[in-house]
Amino acid sequence: MSDLNVVSISEAKLPAEPFVARHLIDGDWRQSADGSTFDRVSPSHGSVVTKAAKGGARDVDAAVSAARLAFDKGRWSRTSGKERATLLLKIADLIDRERERIAYWETLESGKPISQAMAEIEGASDIWRFAASLARTMHGESYNSLGSDMLGLVLKEPVGVVSIITPWNFPFLIVSQKLPFALAAGCTVVIKPSEMTPATTVILGELCIEAGIPAGVVNIVLGYGDPVGTAMTADKRVDMVTFTGSTGVGKAIVKAAAGTLKKVSLELGGKNPQVIFPDADLESAVDAVVFGVYFNAGECCNSGSRIIVHEDIAEAFLKATVDLSRKVPFGDPLDPSTKVGAIITPDHQSKIDKYVRDAADAGATVHLGGEALTVPGLAGQFYQPTIVADVKSDMPIAREEVFGPVLSVLTFKTLDEAIELVNDADYGLSAGVWSENVHTCLEFARRAHAGTVWTNTWMDGFAEMPFGGVKESGQGRELGKYGLDEFLEAKTVTMRIGKTRAPWVA
Ligand code: NAD
Repeated sequence: MSDLNVVSISEAKLPAEPFVARHLIDGDWRQSADGSTFDRVSPSHGSVVTKAAKGGARDVDAAVSAARLAFDKGRWSRTSGKERATLLLKIADLIDRERERIAYWETLESGKPISQAMAEIEGASDIWRFAASLARTMHGESYNSLGSDMLGLVLKEPVGVVSIITPWNFPFLIVSQKLPFALAAGCTVVIKPSEMTPATTVILGELCIEAGIPAGVVNIVLGYGDPVGTAMTADKRVDMVTFTGSTGVGKAIVKAAAGTLKKVSLELGGKNPQVIFPDADLESAVDAVVFGVYFNAGECCNSGSRIIVHEDIAEAFLKATVDLSRKVPFGDPLDPSTKVGAIITPDHQSKIDKYVRDAADAGATVHLGGEALTVPGLAGQFYQPTIVADVKSDMPIAREEVFGPVLSVLTFKTLDEAIELVNDADYGLSAGVWSENVHTCLEFARRAHAGTVWTNTWMDGFAEMPFGGVKESGQGRELGKYGLDEFLEAKTVTMRIGKTRAPWVA
């Protein structure tokens, strides 16, 4: 461990008082109907950083009633695109204004580095601005080709009341991949952030109110998956659920939503491969692999946790990856120099460790890490940068989300073999290829079963580009114009012009 780059506790201050988080229902900040609360302990510092209202069925009922009424009264759905865009842009400006405060609480609750949190909040306000542009440019279609006495219109209408359920790993970014698009479409919403990371969604609610979003349009209920998320999914008055989280909970949501056949959009897990050919820019590839696996401590749906390296370069590539991994600054997330912070909970840390130990027991070789990391001065849980080679495709470490700073290394001989390994997965979120040959990259891009393919790069994202998965990584798309379409229904209006309709009954 001594040869790793560990950042000890910084001088940055912990809050004097925990963040107090309440539900936002019909424009009011409320305690739970039964008065109960829960605490969030910082994964890095080990102290209580948030005290949140703990929602139940009555709180969800009140929030859904408010969202339903706001939608049915047209408080938001009947505003113009210009009005919606104006408010979305205002919220984007407010997010920029509050960037440091949001990043601070995001870091304390999630354990991610403050510099990364700052970048995420900046990315989030950019998404709000992009969604504002869609609010003004969205439109339906007209068909002037149905005959001289007919005109067809396809209207794009908001789906209605949407439940938004988000995870803990990118709390502010992920709610910003959903909420501005739902609002641009004219929907009203009930949001449930993860019980691990409620604070920054509450701050976003404050900003929505400050910007002038009408009461009942944006509601927030805090608490656990059961009963809050389950009630938000089953309620008949909710028209759609958009969920980001684990594949297991995604499947439960599909089952629960089936009772009312509501629309479901799912952004789920991934076990994302990167294939490295011998003709690649290897220096760049090593850096991207190290970034891809340690970013957000590997607690990332897009974690590049499975690399597939050509046999001829495997040994040198592995050595370079181990060497660079030792230089990555792991430690206090409040220190601006830290690149990798804490693991979300002690239970999750144990799960990560078990994957590594089971792989070693099954014949894999641990080349780096494989143990908890001690960060001087901090009481939370951290895990060492870990690289496991001699991994076989059927091992759990190669197939399942480890969701930690753990890289699995497999090897290949031919392009066909590499593609077979890439597609030998239940997940299909993202995949990458490293080669200086454009034909290799294009063939890979067309044959990889994944929602996103990166060639000679990893994890670049843009508000303009859709994101989502195939297979058990989900259904539906976020971002881009596709991100708006998720929240719209097409309504057909067929109009006869003049009295040309032939009577059916003579
Ligand atoms: P999770 O599935 O445990 O929880 C996600 C959310 O669902 C939380 O708010 C939780 O309280 C809620 N929930 C739990 N049970 C529920 C139920 N029965 N009904 C309704 N809601 C319920 O996921 P997590 O641990 O918070 O996040 C990590 C997972 O999220 C990983 O699998 C990761 O890959 C995935 N993820 C995917 C993307 C993507 O865009 N594809 C992005 C980020 C995270």
